[in-house]
Amino acid sequence: MFERTVWPVSGRASVEVGGGLVAKGNRRTRNGSALTSELGLEEVVRAEDVHKFFGSFEVLRGISCSITRGEVVVIIGPSGAGKSTFLRCINGLEPFQRGDINVGGLWLKDRNTDVHRVRADVGMVFQRFNLFSHRTAIENVIEGPIYVRRTARPDAVKHGMELLRKVGLETRVHAYPSRLSGGEQQRVAIARALAMNPKIMLFDEPTSSLDPELVGEVLGVMRQLAEEGMTMIIVTHQMAFAREVADRVIFMDEGVIVEENETSMLFSSPENERTKAFVAKILET
Ligand code: ADP
Ligand code: MG
Repeated sequence: MFERTVWPVSGRASVEVGGGLVAKGNRRTRNGSALTSELGLEEVVRAEDVHKFFGSFEVLRGISCSITRGEVVVIIGPSGAGKSTFLRCINGLEPFQRGDINVGGLWLKDRNTDVHRVRADVGMVFQRFNLFSHRTAIENVIEGPIYVRRTARPDAVKHGMELLRKVGLETRVHAYPSRLSGGEQQRVAIARALAMNPKIMLFDEPTSSLDPELVGEVLGVMRQLAEEGMTMIIVTHQMAFAREVADRVIFMDEGVIVEENETSMLFSSPENERTKAFVAKILET
């Protein structure tokens, strides 16, 4: 298992993930050899044997994984696999009973860890847009910086405007959510998450409640973030998108990570029978 004392190592860590798959720097590599620190990989999130129960139902049954800086990881898996629950555990929205998760150097189970601080460093975009309906786009975006980060309002507005421009909404700055399309609302939600300068962005099926013609504009923003080097964990069923932007794909089922691999490998030659069946099913749709 992971050795806690190894990390964080002055911002550098050697990382080996699932079955000899080696997380990238900028390159996708797969080999069986141990990684050395010269690749300069940095972990942003590490889950260690996370178990979570809802009552007597064990929804997460020992999840371990590691996400390095700049990495884009897509999580796939059938409904009920525990994907959303796992994301919610990472940003401290769900308590879990066993194991631990480190986010940006802080262990969630450490009683000295301020969960609010962890949450502030983790940007989360949900399936439903979760905007404040009584606030305009820009007001939604500056809320966190002003009230959580204590950023001066003019600075928050300036940064917020830049972010709304980045997501292509410079003409919708003062619109209320009800006047925005689903795709626009989701882009505001992304800008709002980015406004906190997160260490990592978590996306939970961000396009699955959008009309098909609006999916592309949201994926476009996410693609741009990936290209800029944002560390991201994305739960999605958009397989073409996953193939294009993901460095690595994790297949979850029934509360465990069944298989993880470099994206093209997982899709072209899944090893586990359950992964094979799932991949075959989603690729034919
Ligand atoms: P996924 O996102 O992969 O579809 P979820 O993490 O949403 O899966 O849910 C995993 C399992 O946990 C499901 O069986 C779901 O019904 C159950 N579950 C999720 N949230 C709760 C909750 N708050 N209370 C009880 N059971 C829950
Ligand atoms: Mg879900």
